[in-house]
Amino acid sequence: MLLYTVSLCVLTMVAAQDGGVVSYEGYQLLRVYPSTAQQLGTLMDLVRRRRYEGLVSLWSQQLFASRTSANNRTEQSADLLSAPQVLEDLVEQLDANGISYDVLIHNLEEAIQSENPPIDPENDELESRGGHRLTWRRYHRYKDIDSYIEYLAITYPDICQTEVIGKSSQGRDLKLLKVSTGGDGNKPAIWIDGGLHAREWISPATVTYIMLQLVEFRDLHPELIDSVDWYIMPVANPDGYEYSHSTDRLWRKTRSGAKANKRWGKRTCYGVDPNRNWDFHWGEDRSSSSDACTDDFRGPKAFSEPETKAMADFILTRKDQIKIYLTLHSYSQMWLVPWGYKNDKPKGYYDMYILAEKGVEALEAVRGTDYLLGTAAELLYTASGASDDWAKGVAGIKYSYTIELPDTGSHGFVLPAHEIEPVGQETWAAVKAITRHFTDARVP
Ligand SMILES: [Zn+2]
Repeated sequence: MLLYTVSLCVLTMVAAQDGGVVSYEGYQLLRVYPSTAQQLGTLMDLVRRRRYEGLVSLWSQQLFASRTSANNRTEQSADLLSAPQVLEDLVEQLDANGISYDVLIHNLEEAIQSENPPIDPENDELESRGGHRLTWRRYHRYKDIDSYIEYLAITYPDICQTEVIGKSSQGRDLKLLKVSTGGDGNKPAIWIDGGLHAREWISPATVTYIMLQLVEFRDLHPELIDSVDWYIMPVANPDGYEYSHSTDRLWRKTRSGAKANKRWGKRTCYGVDPNRNWDFHWGEDRSSSSDACTDDFRGPKAFSEPETKAMADFILTRKDQIKIYLTLHSYSQMWLVPWGYKNDKPKGYYDMYILAEKGVEALEAVRGTDYLLGTAAELLYTASGASDDWAKGVAGIKYSYTIELPDTGSHGFVLPAHEIEPVGQETWAAVKAITRHFTDARVP
């Protein structure tokens, strides 16, 4: 495949605001297929055009992924979100340059409105009597997820503990659940985080599903917690997550302080991409942005964000114990192995690949969901400052992975809530498989 080492240049969309809530009425998601290097270059130029600023964005993580199509032709694709006022112009440009495309989502606002079923007050009351309101039938706010962490700690005090590892920039608790049957930290540990990118709602939902299975169904697989300690953080970016519920469904970054940007005149922009902010080859190339108004803004310095700093500090104090680092994102159905910052493979890549393969096999066996496995640089594009590279390169955690959850673009970031359980089941199968392989093989 052709590799394009370039900043995503994803400008935060400037969607019309209605009563404080961002509306995506008439926005369309297009999948475009540049079939030659020239078309790829043309496409990148198109996206960067000034008249498209804030109106056309590349939905990241799916940029120029190669996936073997039904006719066995390897193709590259990129998903572009277009505002209605430039859609006709954009399509004309694609046609004029012979770049084919499909419309994946005809009206994004409609997809957003039908993504999450409304709260059923009767059910809600019933469930709250159990001590928490979390379900796996809808996407929940941060407080419901938080109440589930507390519920597990109160209900299963012999194996569950909560720990607040820091505060977000808006003062929310950065909370994780520790699951352990004892041993004073002498057992190997697995770290799982979700929700680093705010809009990827399937990620926190899947992480809480893993907590449910691991703790509440522990009798089905006691060896998983007897042999391993778990550190699980379902919402790593709670400010962004809440903002994506309350105001802008497509918010990706943190919500740290406003930064003025000359290019945008008086406009001030918020937030940093928390998966470009880690202190490992941070900002070394053009794979992240120094522009505070873009979606992939790397921050004014590495670990500028209290969220990434708190996670890193916690992991570093347990770096000899943590053997597997998993971070859940969406979308594109890929199991990514470092490195992401360069087109090269780290020491121990073969072992990392074999363990990941066990996970992918178990995942695909559940309902046939097709995952790609490889390095981020191979499957997507190079990007530095991501958490999995840091976990491998700085913390020295041998098995470090990013899992890009479903789907492959039909719904993109707005995956309907009825997918939570099936995605949870298959991802849990993968987590079980790699844990068992890791402990059975006693790999170093
Ligand atoms: Zn992500």
